[in-house]
Amino acid sequence: MGVRSILIHPDPRLRKVAARVEAVDDGVRALAEDMLATMYDAPGIGLAATQLGVMKQVFVMDCAGKEEEPQPMVLLNPEILWRSEETETSEEGCLSIPEVYADVTRAARVGLRWLGLDGEIREQEFGERWAICAQHEIDHLNGRLFIDYLSAVKRTMITSRMKKLKREKARA
Ligand SMILES: [Zn+2]
Repeated sequence: MGVRSILIHPDPRLRKVAARVEAVDDGVRALAEDMLATMYDAPGIGLAATQLGVMKQVFVMDCAGKEEEPQPMVLLNPEILWRSEETETSEEGCLSIPEVYADVTRAARVGLRWLGLDGEIREQEFGERWAICAQHEIDHLNGRLFIDYLSAVKRTMITSRMKKLKREKARA
């Protein structure tokens, strides 16, 4: 399939909790491939399956710097084992909420456990952009968006802006 279309907020599918992946089969492998293609095409540094309307616990990310080699990662059934007490506030955006950026405070480092595409369970510590991105994507798999961390007033403003954007897109 390749590049798939990304759901734009508000959409009920972005608010659902994704189901665990039971087996790494061809369907999951194809989904991961499409997710990476869609993320790089956007372009973005992370994408959750729920953003494509697929209710599975899968996310992809590549937070490598512009000067670095690409470092694509695919994480199935990701779990946060621990979060650092130290926090980091950074400007976040989301492919499902285009052109909206806001500061969000999250744990600066996290320990994750996930299932790899090779069927192996992995554990790793993430810091910097990787930690922020992973927390943002895991939120997606739980039906949570970064705008949920903002004030209700801001969230309502952003949601109306997105509704307008979707109406304009539908007309075009
Ligand atoms: Zn997002």
